[in-house]
Amino acid sequence: MKRRDILAAAGVGLAATALAGCQQESAPAAAAEAPQQTFTWKMVTSWPKNFPGVGVGAERFARLVNEMSGGRLQVKVYAAGELVPALEVFDAVSRGTAELGHSAPYYWKGKVPAAQFFCALPFGPNAQEMNAWLHYGGGMALWEEVYKPFGVVPFACGATGVQTAGWFNKEINSIDDFKGLKMRTPGLGGEVLTRMGGTVVNLPAGEIFTALQTGAIDATEWIGPYNDLALGLHKVAKYYYTPGWQEPNVTFELTVNEAAWNSLPADLQAIVRAAARDVNGDVLDDYNARNMEAMEKIRAEGVEVRRLPEPVLERLREVASQAVEDSAAADPVAGKVWAAQKAYLKRLRDYAEDNEKLIYNIRG
Ligand code: CA
Repeated sequence: MKRRDILAAAGVGLAATALAGCQQESAPAAAAEAPQQTFTWKMVTSWPKNFPGVGVGAERFARLVNEMSGGRLQVKVYAAGELVPALEVFDAVSRGTAELGHSAPYYWKGKVPAAQFFCALPFGPNAQEMNAWLHYGGGMALWEEVYKPFGVVPFACGATGVQTAGWFNKEINSIDDFKGLKMRTPGLGGEVLTRMGGTVVNLPAGEIFTALQTGAIDATEWIGPYNDLALGLHKVAKYYYTPGWQEPNVTFELTVNEAAWNSLPADLQAIVRAAARDVNGDVLDDYNARNMEAMEKIRAEGVEVRRLPEPVLERLREVASQAVEDSAAADPVAGKVWAAQKAYLKRLRDYAEDNEKLIYNIRG
């Protein structure tokens, strides 16, 4: 009896163990069979359809998210003007007209003065420095804080690398050559030009070619060889000046409506984060490769590629430095962001002086 009781008890125990094992095995299978919520999101952008570089990056983000989520998060990309105008992307995401946006932070500087420090500054950070600051130097936390009052969650999502100084039909030999120069250049670069005695003309991409061709403007900058060649600017300008002092990099942003973001399960949030990070690097790689190829074509077309004289660059740097300080001083949030970024960039550049720049200087 005693032995039978023990066996019976053991049997119950074994059965219980088997049942528990069975439940453990069947639990994930049951979850997989349960219908999972799918999300269909709109992504408004500031770019023409399939625009080289940045527009291709927006399409890549949508494709990656669709693929990685097995179709649970589907993103439809809208070109500028399809759903909202190019410069209303931030507002559209903020109010939830679209769950996602792809644009450039400095477009919102009128509404969010601190935004430009996550995007581009004259003589400011290159892509490598911006990425280090954003992802490992506290920049992202500040960016999230700056966009929080608008119900928008930001991610870095593409970078141009060093732009060019632009297309000119007048030679730039001294700082006096900026006096009276009518040039299309936005943002703080434009502010510097104004302080140098020039006249800033703001034009969207589609109007630049004609304005330069007809002489309505004397000069324009756009992005770099890859995008500039696509606009055909080499056909209407004599000189192509480097380097892009006004924008040593532009970082693009993915913006997510905060309520929409909070509605996503953690695995889909991770997919959005990973896809943004992938596109952030991929757009820069694309620009680096295609800019070089496009510059070879521009030279082959007979355009004179010139470097701005060093004394001109030195004066531009002085004026730009003051313009950045004035811009930061005009807004407390911008001032806080710039103080943090400036201190971090100083440390990065001290390190570059000791290492990276030495290689560039000697390798040719
Ligand atoms: Ca530009």
